[in-house]
Amino acid sequence: MCDVGWSLDGPDGSPLDGFLLQIFWLESFFFRPFFGGIFLENSLITPASMFRFVFKMFGSGDALLPRKGIQAITAQLAEKLQRTIVHLETAIDRLEGSSLVLANGQTHHFDKIILTIDPALLMPNLAGQNVQWQSTTALYFFSDSPVLSSPIIGLVADEDSPINNFSELTQLWPDFAPAGKHLISVTLKETPSKHFDPSIIANEIKQRCQYTGALVFLAQYDIPKALPVLDTLQYSVQATSLSLTDDIYLAGEYLLNGSLDAAMRSGRLAAEALLISLN
Ligand SMILES: Cc1cc2nc3c(=O)[nH]c(=O)nc-3n(C[C@H](O)[C@H](O)[C@H](O)COP(=O)(O)OP(=O)(O)OC[C@H]3O[C@@H](n4cnc5c(N)ncnc54)[C@H](O)[C@@H]3O)c2cc1C
Repeated sequence: MCDVGWSLDGPDGSPLDGFLLQIFWLESFFFRPFFGGIFLENSLITPASMFRFVFKMFGSGDALLPRKGIQAITAQLAEKLQRTIVHLETAIDRLEGSSLVLANGQTHHFDKIILTIDPALLMPNLAGQNVQWQSTTALYFFSDSPVLSSPIIGLVADEDSPINNFSELTQLWPDFAPAGKHLISVTLKETPSKHFDPSIIANEIKQRCQYTGALVFLAQYDIPKALPVLDTLQYSVQATSLSLTDDIYLAGEYLLNGSLDAAMRSGRLAAEALLISLN
């Protein structure tokens, strides 16, 4: 039998009233900004089932930033492919019958295909059924000395602030920046307008961290399709439900629950469905 270690003894015997106040504090200053940052939306309209899924994941594993960035995951998958040619920086314009039409006008015939993006973007007959997206913006700054004292996530609970969170990536991986420099990453709540001045963000971080040195702006990445807006979430589906036609199969985060886990799970299922169709 599993012993959950339940006990009536509180850590300090504190009254329930104070404990409930602590929960209220956690909700406002931790859960709202933390999960707002994970779901990339501030109203927390994301289904509660997704909260339970992610919360469980944090309970059972570590939060991490891969040594070579998030790209390391795809690089690891690609390394295992023995007989596959990978074309990078090759935009597909549309699907026509059993041909892929590239943005540069070239066409490629396919027998079977797994589409890992919203098919409505490539198939004119699906127009109007597009996936909706949450957007976000990431900013990067250099500093000459540490802004934070440890590898923590600086959550900004203040509703009026444009910042959701910031962290100093070089606290974790010093060679993310040249020697003597520190790399600060900032996630904004919304993508700012074209005339946005990043020094506003630099000044807010300096003020919050009481940092007196300079924060030098490096880059801004607007990510319009950061996470799909999903009304219903699924952990998994029948592999066969991922076929759009006999030859076109679907994979991607938007089919399950908007995460790397969902992207990889759906990819595996789509490959299984395709293999079944070959037999
Ligand atoms: C800032 C941020 C932080 C995140 N953090 C986490 C996290 O900590 N944990 C987690 O689980 N998830 C996280 N996610 C979500 C995660 O990145 C996605 O769930 C995952 O990448 C989805 O994988 P995918 O293969 O479905 O789509 P994508 O990763 O978007 O891959 C689709 C690919 O198709 C390419 N493409 C699009 N259109 C075309 C075209 N016309 N022709 C050719 N290629 C095309 C794109 O360039 C892209 O490479 C985060 C997302 C963002 C934006």
